[in-house]
Amino acid sequence: MFERQIAIPSSEEIVQELPLPKPLAKIKASRDALAKDVIAGRSEKLLVIVGPCSAHEAAPVLEYVRRLGRLNERVKEKLVLIPRIYTNKPRTKGVGYKGMFSQPDPENRENILKGIYAIRDLHIKAIEESGLSAADEMLYPENYAYVEDLLTYIAVGARSSENQLHRLVSSGIELPVGIKNPTGGSIPVTLNSVYAAQSPQVFMYHNYQVATGGNEYAHVVLRGRVDHYGNDIPNYHYETVMQVFEGYHKSEELKNPAVVIDANHSNSKKQYRQQVRIVEEVLQNRTYDADFKRIVKGFMIESFLEEGSQKHDIVFGKSITDPCLGWEETERLILDIADKA
Ligand code: PEP
Ligand code: MN
Repeated sequence: MFERQIAIPSSEEIVQELPLPKPLAKIKASRDALAKDVIAGRSEKLLVIVGPCSAHEAAPVLEYVRRLGRLNERVKEKLVLIPRIYTNKPRTKGVGYKGMFSQPDPENRENILKGIYAIRDLHIKAIEESGLSAADEMLYPENYAYVEDLLTYIAVGARSSENQLHRLVSSGIELPVGIKNPTGGSIPVTLNSVYAAQSPQVFMYHNYQVATGGNEYAHVVLRGRVDHYGNDIPNYHYETVMQVFEGYHKSEELKNPAVVIDANHSNSKKQYRQQVRIVEEVLQNRTYDADFKRIVKGFMIESFLEEGSQKHDIVFGKSITDPCLGWEETERLILDIADKA
């Protein structure tokens, strides 16, 4: 049974009610171009998608992005900083906090209508206050229309990357879509998802048969894998990245070979401080091999104002989902990436 709880207006109605102001849309468009240029190899810069695992409250996220905006001014010749403002959270067991989209107040019950306004408001304010447009996870492809005018980078999570609708909707997005390896870690499956997202598709979406042009900016994100016994196995090492490189080059149809290294999740075993070492190791491998350097287009780092995580929202700016690096270490790491990029 499905109990109808709240009627949700169409994305057109809500976007009209809470539009992205024109000057901010201009900022977003120029940042989209920067991010696309990195994925397509037209720019040598590195993408750094950085921020909390989940954006559970607006105020600390806005404080975080303001700091990131100031830091961006110092590194923008080398890096494209993209804040992680993740408002939709997948859960390993399907239960628990599902993000601001579902629970605008994490201590209260679901209210998706309020959540949609809250996430649009947060993304818009973040651009206004930091000059940076963000990344979010497309957890529910049907809902992408509610934020599609606001984002510069879209992630397809490890639990979604083999899903048909995620792949098909990705094919219509004209932005970098980072497709994570599935939790099992199969590289061929990940590349098949990239292939599907890069291909023109026809399918049903929002009560229409729609046709897409294919998204040449869809690419691989390596987040580590989980083996059959539940152990986290890293996949940021040289060998795996080069397997992805070979997979891209074996296929004649795949465009823009690109890998983003997610330094947390099963790569760090959620030992969040290890993210620094992991990024440093990848930067070192870039100096060793030109092919490796060419395919690694950036990093995904989980970071917030305060390091670690907490079960309930007590400490301002501390993650209530995956543990994060704190601000000072993040700033140091980003300056170091810029130095070595
Ligand atoms: C995340 O990026 O916070 C996340 C949930 O990642 P994954 O899909 O890789 O588990
Ligand atoms: Mn996370």
